[in-house]
Amino acid sequence: MLHTHDVLIIGRGLAGTVLSETLADAGLRVMIFDAQLPGRASAVATGIVNPIVLRRTVPSWRASEMLAIAGAFYRELELDYEASFWHPMPLVELFPTAQEAGLWHMRMKEEEFSRLLAVGPGDDPAIAQLPQPYGSGVVKRCAWLDIPTLLRLHRERWIKAGALEARSVRDADVRTTSEGVEIDGHSAPILIRCAGPFQPMEGLVPVRGEGLTVRMPGLALRSMVHRGLFLLPVGDETYRAGATFAWDDVWSGPTQKGRDHLMDKLTRLWSGEIEVLDHWAGVRPAAQDRRPILGRMNGHEAVFTGLGSRGALLAPWCAAHLLEHVTKGASIDPEVNAARFR
Ligand SMILES: Cc1cc2nc3c(=O)[nH]c(=O)nc-3n(C[C@H](O)[C@H](O)[C@H](O)COP(=O)(O)OP(=O)(O)OC[C@H]3O[C@@H](n4cnc5c(N)ncnc54)[C@H](O)[C@@H]3O)c2cc1C
Repeated sequence: MLHTHDVLIIGRGLAGTVLSETLADAGLRVMIFDAQLPGRASAVATGIVNPIVLRRTVPSWRASEMLAIAGAFYRELELDYEASFWHPMPLVELFPTAQEAGLWHMRMKEEEFSRLLAVGPGDDPAIAQLPQPYGSGVVKRCAWLDIPTLLRLHRERWIKAGALEARSVRDADVRTTSEGVEIDGHSAPILIRCAGPFQPMEGLVPVRGEGLTVRMPGLALRSMVHRGLFLLPVGDETYRAGATFAWDDVWSGPTQKGRDHLMDKLTRLWSGEIEVLDHWAGVRPAAQDRRPILGRMNGHEAVFTGLGSRGALLAPWCAAHLLEHVTKGASIDPEVNAARFR
């Protein structure tokens, strides 16, 4: 049977965006369907790329490998789009306790950590304006991925090319044949579902996150900061501050409780004026074991989800892994294989 495409994709958050670019770059014909549903994670994601689990001061899952692949992928994509959305930026951790400060110093003695961490506030003079009773440390290889810009550029290009349809796809719209899958006249040997938190499946845990956009006159940070929450400078003394984690009532949108929680953290950090410009919420597609969820659901369908709170860091590796699977039949790494939850 002759197919119109090589791969159909449902969902164009960060997963669908990065996957479609990866597949198209390898010469595959891709068609995307996306509905821009309320609560989607990528619409609110701050885009912080941080290879350290700060609660425990340990590298996140396969951090060095993921960082190298993510950096190369987004830089290459910037060249392709002639745009800028990947911004290396240090992250300063303000130690909340003497124990955390001690742990950080201890980790610095190990080679793996000394490449990622440094002691002290780094070279951003504005950090001196924030309270640091137990000192501070820098996570060196961090970045900010400007997800709204990336998604906007991708949307414009793919709509123009006729390879993106803004529509919702119901299960009844997907026709499976012995040769592949068909959606409204578009057919391919494989359909990859990148529907984030909207695709209920074994092992997937939707987690609501809320954040605030705030202006803090008098504070002009050049680094990202973490102390109970993340602070990302976006210019003009304005910051994205977040995010909360909530496992109940995940589709509620922004809540007063979330706002109060964030304001409490912010006022501990900054005693000057804090003007709230925006309050946002979205739902993370997290996995029970905090690993991505990839792989075949049946003969002609696969899934790419479970990016949790590290989508920007993990998506390029996941997409490259799926490409190998789709084009060369490479087996899915058991650590991320969707089959681990069945
Ligand atoms: C508050 C918050 C802050 C975050 N901060 C960061 C951060 O700083 N750094 C970071 O790396 N990650 C962060 N994340 C996590 C990041 O947002 C996610 O890992 C990532 O965006 C998940 O992307 P996704 O494409 O899997 O899902 P989504 O972005 O939710 O995309 C799914 C898409 O599928 C579409 N869709 C679903 N079903 C259908 C259907 N039937 N038909 C058509 N379309 C459909 C939806 O409309 C949506 O566009 C944050 C998340 C939240 C909520």
